[in-house]
Amino acid sequence: MNSYTHPPVLVVGAGPVGLVAALTLLQNGIPVRIIDKDPNPRMGQRGSGIWPRTLELFNFLNVPDVNDLGKPSPPVRSYKPGTLEPLNDFSMVPHIEPTPTIPFTIPKLIGQQLLDVVLQRHLEKFSCFVEGGTELRSFEQSDEGITAVLAKNEILENFHTKWMIGADGAKGVVRKQLGLIFLGETRNDAFLTGDIRLTAECLDREVCPFSMGWKRAPIQC
Ligand SMILES: Cc1cc2nc3c(=O)[nH]c(=O)nc-3n(C[C@H](O)[C@H](O)[C@H](O)COP(=O)(O)OP(=O)(O)OC[C@H]3O[C@@H](n4cnc5c(N)ncnc54)[C@H](O)[C@@H]3O)c2cc1C
Repeated sequence: MNSYTHPPVLVVGAGPVGLVAALTLLQNGIPVRIIDKDPNPRMGQRGSGIWPRTLELFNFLNVPDVNDLGKPSPPVRSYKPGTLEPLNDFSMVPHIEPTPTIPFTIPKLIGQQLLDVVLQRHLEKFSCFVEGGTELRSFEQSDEGITAVLAKNEILENFHTKWMIGADGAKGVVRKQLGLIFLGETRNDAFLTGDIRLTAECLDREVCPFSMGWKRAPIQC
């Protein structure tokens, strides 16, 4: 069994972190196995903002598609509360000219659903495919490496590997089993995200509407 049939790295989780980790290793000649418990491609835009430093990373990884496909983040427009009367437009980032040290200066918007597809296509160039519906249940570490207990269709597999990257998100098994803390706070703010198509008098793709106090946003739909 060689490293191509039994890769030395198991990447757990095929979100942006796992996909980037896998691609980085493959581009450096290290075969990986990447799994995700979700059997289907992920739906939804989730967080869509790609910041300039991340665009720089994608440039290093020779993934220009993210910058090419992403839409520049529009200026934010505030309104007089309860009305459609614009107060002012402002940018979320200061305007700076690109330089050799800071080549990307404008954040881009690309839904995570599309970002996942872009990154997976780059993995496929290395004949690496995300194994959906494959869940890490637990793992054991020794001086030789890791034994990961994986489950697919409730069939368990003991996978022995040298290294494992836990990219299974903040609520993931890896962080919990390692006993790593995750500092943070739960706030009472109401926050609603969704992939919805809106038609309204004040909406277009040129500006992002914002009203002091989201609950009083002037959008009616
Ligand atoms: C409302 C909201 C808005 C956001 N906006 C932005 C934004 O604009 N820009 C930005 O950069 N970030 C944004 N973020 C943050 C961003 O979504 C996260 O930082 C990012 O998703 C983290 O990526 P990840 O790969 O670590 O984890 P995730 O995206 O959570 O992926 C983890 C993956 O691991 C899989 N997994 C979990 N457990 C297991 C297991 N046991 N076995 C196998 N697979 C497993 C899951 O199915 C999942 O696919 C936002 C987050 C939220 C909640």
